[in-house]
Parts: sequence; C-alpha cells; structure tokens
Amino acid sequence: MNRSTSLERIRSAAEPFDILIVGGGATGLGAAVDATARGYRVALIEQHDFAKGTSSRSTKLVHGGVRYLKQGNISLVLEALRERGRLTQNAPHLVHDLAFVIPSYKWWEGPFYGIGLKVYDQLAGKLGLKPSRMLSRRETIRLIPTVEPEHLTGGVVYHDGQFDDARLAVNLAQTAYDLGAAVTNYCRCVDIVKKGDIVAGVVARDQESGEEFKIRARSVINATGVFVDDLRRLDDKAARRLVAVSQGIHIVLPKSFLPGSTAIMIPKTADGRVLFAVPWHDRVVVGTTDTPLPGHSLEPRALDEERDFVMSHACRYLAKGPVDSDVLSIFAGQRPLVDTGNAANTAALSRDHTILVSPSGLITITGGKWTTYRKMAEDVIDQAATVAGVEGTRSRTEDMHVHGWTLAKIREKNLQPYGSDAVKISELIKATPALSQKLHPALPYQQGEVVWQVRHEMARCVEDVLARRTRALILNARASIEAAPLVARLVAGELGHDAAWQARQVADYTALARGYVFTDPASHFRPEQGDPKRRPAARAG
Ligand SMILES: Cc1cc2nc3c(=O)[nH]c(=O)nc-3n(C[C@H](O)[C@H](O)[C@H](O)COP(=O)(O)OP(=O)(O)OC[C@H]3O[C@@H](n4cnc5c(N)ncnc54)[C@H](O)[C@@H]3O)c2cc1C
Repeated sequence: MNRSTSLERIRSAAEPFDILIVGGGATGLGAAVDATARGYRVALIEQHDFAKGTSSRSTKLVHGGVRYLKQGNISLVLEALRERGRLTQNAPHLVHDLAFVIPSYKWWEGPFYGIGLKVYDQLAGKLGLKPSRMLSRRETIRLIPTVEPEHLTGGVVYHDGQFDDARLAVNLAQTAYDLGAAVTNYCRCVDIVKKGDIVAGVVARDQESGEEFKIRARSVINATGVFVDDLRRLDDKAARRLVAVSQGIHIVLPKSFLPGSTAIMIPKTADGRVLFAVPWHDRVVVGTTDTPLPGHSLEPRALDEERDFVMSHACRYLAKGPVDSDVLSIFAGQRPLVDTGNAANTAALSRDHTILVSPSGLITITGGKWTTYRKMAEDVIDQAATVAGVEGTRSRTEDMHVHGWTLAKIREKNLQPYGSDAVKISELIKATPALSQKLHPALPYQQGEVVWQVRHEMARCVEDVLARRTRALILNARASIEAAPLVARLVAGELGHDAAWQARQVADYTALARGYVFTDPASHFRPEQGDPKRRPAARAG
C-alpha cells in the first residue's frame, strides 16, 4: 500500500469517483472495502492516520454486547453476533475467541447471568463460539486466580471475540487498496464542492505538502465519527447536531494482575456501568467509562474522575489492586452516539448505526460499533450507489478475507498480527539481521517491523508506528517514549527525512505520549479515594 500512488490517483483522476469516503476509521475503511469489492471506483481520505480516532481506542472486543441484551435490544445483539462470527472467519489472524468470567458475589447472580448468557449463545446460532456455563467458586478462582475471593460464590463463563483494532484498520485499508481503491492518510477534507445544490466532491488538503485540490465524486460519504457534524455543516451551515460524544477510558496494567487467558466482565458496577478487565498482548486492559462530553477531540484525555473510577473498580474486583505506578498506559476514546434529543444520558443513547442523506446528497453514517463495521459498510454503500446513480450490486464482503488472512499460527509471536505478511517480514529481517533488534527491552517489537510498516502499511511518522502499527503507546507509554528516537531514525531512513525532522518527531511524539502516562503527582490515585476494598456486599449498590 503506497501513499504517493494513491494520492496521485486521487489528484489526477480524469473521471469523478463513484464513491468518495471521508474518514479512515472502522466505518470509512469498511465502506471503502465494500464499495471497491462491488466494482465501484472508490477513493478514501483520512485527515490524520488510519484509526487515529475512536477506532484505535476501543476495548478490543468483537462482541454481541451482553448489555444490549439486558436492554432488550435483540436485533442489535443478533446483528452484532452474526458479524462477530463473520469477522472471526474473515480475519482469523486478528480475531480470536476469549473466555469471560462474570464473578458472582451474591447467590442469585450466577443463575441470573447464566440464563441471560444461554440466550446469548442461542442467538449466535451457527456462528456461535464456545457455550457459556456456570462455575463453582473453585473453578472461578482457577480461571481468575487474582479475582477478589472474599464473598465470592462462583461465576459464569461465556465467550466473545477479541481483536487488535488499529491493526484491523490498517488491514482494511490494505484490503481496499489491494482491490483497487485509492486510499490515503494525512489528507483532510476542508470543504464540500457542489454543482448547483448537489454535492459533487470535496476540497482536500494534503497535510504533508499543504497543497489543496478538488476531488470530484458522484457520491460523498461522511464517515468521520465524532466529527460528522463538522462536515455536515460544511454542506449545510444550519444542520442540526446529530452526534453526542461519550468518552470511555482504559488503563493498561502488567499481565500479573490477570495472569491467565480469561477476562473478567462486571455487568453492573455500583453506578450501573459495564466494566471489563481483558488480557491483551501480554497486558491487561481495564475499562471503560461512559462520560458525556460537550465537544470532541482527535486526541482525547482521561478525566481525573474517569481514572479514579477505573482504578477503584480494578481494586475492588482484583485481590491485589493496582496503584498509579503499576499503570503502563491510560487511553481515552470518544463514541459517536446518535442523539435523538430524548435521552437523559449518553449510556441510554443508541449504539445502533444511522445513515442520513442530506438534501444535497451528502451521506452521513455514524454510530454502531467496530464489531458491526462490515454491516454498516454494506448498508451505506447500498445507499451511496443510489445517490451516485451507479448500477446497484450486492455486497460481497460477508465471506471476504481481510488482508493478512491466514489460519496458520505464526511462529514469532510479535508477528502474529501481520497474518500472512509475517513470512515476508521474517524474510526482510533475515536479509538485514540488524533489523532483528528490538525497539525497546520492554516492548515486543523488532526494528524490521518499522521498515515493513513504512514500506507497506503507509506509516508516515513515529506516532503511526508506536501508536497504531505497533501498539507500543498503549502497552507501555514510557517505554514507547524511549523508543521514539530509534523509530524516528528508522522512518527517516525509509522516507529520506533529515535530522531536524527526526528531532521534531521525537519532541512531538514525547509530548503526545506523556498524555498516556500518569504524570501529575497531585492527581495520582490513592486507594482510599475510591474506597476500593469495599466489601462485595456493597458492590451491587
Ligand atoms: C471507549 C470505547 C470502547 C469501545 N469498545 C468497543 C469494542 O470493544 N468493540 C466494538 O465493537 N466497538 C467498540 N467501540 C466502538 C467503536 O470503537 C466505534 O464505533 C468505531 O471505532 C467508530 O469508528 P468510526 O470510523 O465511525 O470513527 P473513527 O474511528 O473516529 O474514524 C473517523 C475518522 O474520520 C477522520 N476525520 C474526521 N474529520 C475528517 C476530515 N475533515 N477529513 C478527513 N478525515 C476526517 C478522523 O481523523 C477519524 O480517523 C468502543 C468505543 C469507545 C469510545
């Protein structure tokens, strides 16, 4: 996947594209794959890097959403379970089955959740993972040796999927590119172009060169996540707000806090939220929150109360609670929730997706979740084909393999997320043995991966490598800062940048990554803040 090639194709296109997609997160990239697979001429522009927005900041679950079952939203659960099954088959190198235990501290919790999860199993049908079952207290502790044992009565184990969100985004960009789409990062939509009253393309700015140019298209899809209203207002200054922002944060802890391969799911915290502690890339990801915010940000930061909430709950459900110095990273993401204007809080807003076509023909898609990106893409491309006036064809992505698809187990564990590309990366490293060196002793990545990412995955800068192509930023933010000069040198070597560029890159990355570390001693978490060891009897509130 090559940026110059894509950019040149976009800039010099003689004909309007059938479909132009703005936004390179799960939604936009999925749409690019779906549209290109149907044979349409497709371009996608992303203002920053692929998955820079919400799509690299999820809980990393491919799930039906047990909690939507509780809300009675069966159709949403059914659709997500179907998509969970498809994604497991279409990207097996990135998605795998994960066992979740719901620990019970009251006698009725086991049977209560057990029955609900049997319904969940049934809804998944043929695409189901392993069935759920009740656990004794002993079995619960065997699966989660670090679970808080006091008052524990037993548990229920069920299965869902887990994945690497940013890696899947990169693979979707590659899939679209392989199929013939012109896909580029660092290219921002700065205006909408109209012919009469009808949308006929966009004005784009190459964020690297600063050059602005027009892209003509028969239909334009606004897939900009929490930014959709900004684009809608370029189309229509008076457009009503469509999206409400809800922030969710996660903390990342060393694996010793959850040493097995089973996750913990807390279906109802004291204030009614769902909380996960999930083993991921030899770390533990704990979250999340649901905090309504008045505005959006491309680089959101955890609020103090969110940090305290997650830390205190980690302390409550783990026998040995974490303290600040255990936290390897903290990251925040923003959900684009469709605001119907009636909900009292963001947790009550729809997680379903919405497609809206403006009177001028701008197609906006938002909401949904990573798990359902393929179905969202199918629906929006059906709509875009009508707007573009091109011949309608059916989506072909239900059984389509994502770039990197392989069923083979990759020998080198750090290369597993590359799937079928792992062989080529191994060869690259073998040809230049210095590239086998690690980026940092505390990180699992080799230097050769960076070279591969620049050459084939459109990594353009240090952040692209450390935040999304590798997951160094969220596996260990401090170590990633220490690795930045080496990464800058490797990227510069590939792209022909000088020492001044490298120095700027290291400074920029360091400033960014500091936001993922607990740096302010005044706001450090002290266990007593969250009353973390409140006895389980008080848990369900
Ligand atoms: C805390 C949290 C946890 C979650 N956990 C899960 C989970 O475990 N499983 C799950 O299925 N879902 C989960 N989700 C939901 C899922 O992450 C989102 O639904 C999904 O990532 C949204 O993708 P998107 O493409 O719509 O938005 P984004 O990923 O935000 O993509 C939009 C893109 O548009 C770009 N853009 C904006 N303006 C412009 C412009 N003018 N020009 C060009 N590009 C532009 C942005 O830079 C951005 O990259 C979670 C969400 C949150 C917040």
